[in-house]
Amino acid sequence: MERIEGNMLYTVPHYYRKFQCTASACTDTCCAGWQIMIDDKSLRKYKKIPGAFGNRMKNSVDWKEGAFLQYKGRCAFLNEENLCDLYAEKGEQMLCRTCRMYPRHIEEYEGIREISLSLSCVEAAKIILGGKEPIRFLNKEDDREETYESFDFFLFTKLMDVREAMIGILQDRKESMEVRIGKVLAIAHDVQRRIRGEALFEIDQLLERYQKEKNRERFREKLEKIRPKSRSRYEIMSQMFQVFGKLEVLKADWKPYIESVEQKLFGQGEAFYQEAFARFEREVCKEERWEIYLEQLMVYFLFTYFCGAVYDEMAYEKAKFAVASTLLIQEMVFASFLSHGKFPQVEEVAEIAHRYAKEVEHSDTNLKRLEELFQKEKSFHLLSLLAVV
Ligand code: SF4
Repeated sequence: MERIEGNMLYTVPHYYRKFQCTASACTDTCCAGWQIMIDDKSLRKYKKIPGAFGNRMKNSVDWKEGAFLQYKGRCAFLNEENLCDLYAEKGEQMLCRTCRMYPRHIEEYEGIREISLSLSCVEAAKIILGGKEPIRFLNKEDDREETYESFDFFLFTKLMDVREAMIGILQDRKESMEVRIGKVLAIAHDVQRRIRGEALFEIDQLLERYQKEKNRERFREKLEKIRPKSRSRYEIMSQMFQVFGKLEVLKADWKPYIESVEQKLFGQGEAFYQEAFARFEREVCKEERWEIYLEQLMVYFLFTYFCGAVYDEMAYEKAKFAVASTLLIQEMVFASFLSHGKFPQVEEVAEIAHRYAKEVEHSDTNLKRLEELFQKEKSFHLLSLLAVV
């Protein structure tokens, strides 16, 4: 990526402008089910609102926490038509930063803002998953300048190169999805060793090796050889699901939902699971339409989170997050396939993916805990993941 020194670069996925909030028609309003934090500037504005609305404001905010109060899990300003009274009464400029921005998600790096649509919004999820073409990224610059006190620009540029290579591999539709995802994992694993060993200069060569046409077949064979035969998919996936029991729960209906998915998938034993998965694989996973869903999910997670490794040097965990999230969402869709037996339409996959994203992506605690579990738990080790991609 070429940058003009001193300018701010903004990057968005090509579908970014397609988003439109469906407000009261939304099947899942984002103003319910989680705590909406208010930025300091908006809190100061809210304190100054006079009259009757000012009184309502006083009673609708947890001033100590800096969050909107909720009634039965719904924001205090969300009315019966699922519209926001604050917006209706005072206009868009009165919304706090969270409400003004959502579902836009911003990752900040020195001189760079990467803006995406969050998968946790069901309409955004339909756009992310519904696109048939490979996702492209658009850049724009302005003359804003900023410098961070400490920002490892060399590591950042390497991470950007790695991410670009991974996205290229994921969008190589001549290749099977298992090989594409397998390569992403293998690259992340090798890159992490270079980061740890302070050998970032070796990364260009590493990427070249993975991208070489003549190495294609060799990688496929290697993947086949190292896929473990000793642990079954049933064993790995059922263990992977246990991760949800170790995370903070955000929405009240999440726990019963996940329990019902687990029951459907794993409750009837291994033989049932293996037979059902063979059918799901035949009727769904082998279809190009399905591979496109997985590709869009993987690209979404990598674009949004991978370069964040510049702050914690955990590049491998970021790639594992993309793979594990894609696998878990696939498994949830598999559970609903068991109920209806039809190829999953985009609305259904979006509904499932947005529920997952809502629980996992919007809790820093959960994101951090997941990275820890990826290091500890056997089901997230390289060989386990390679066995089930
Ligand atoms: S979830 Fe998305 S579409 Fe629904 S109300 Fe929120 S921003 Fe709008």
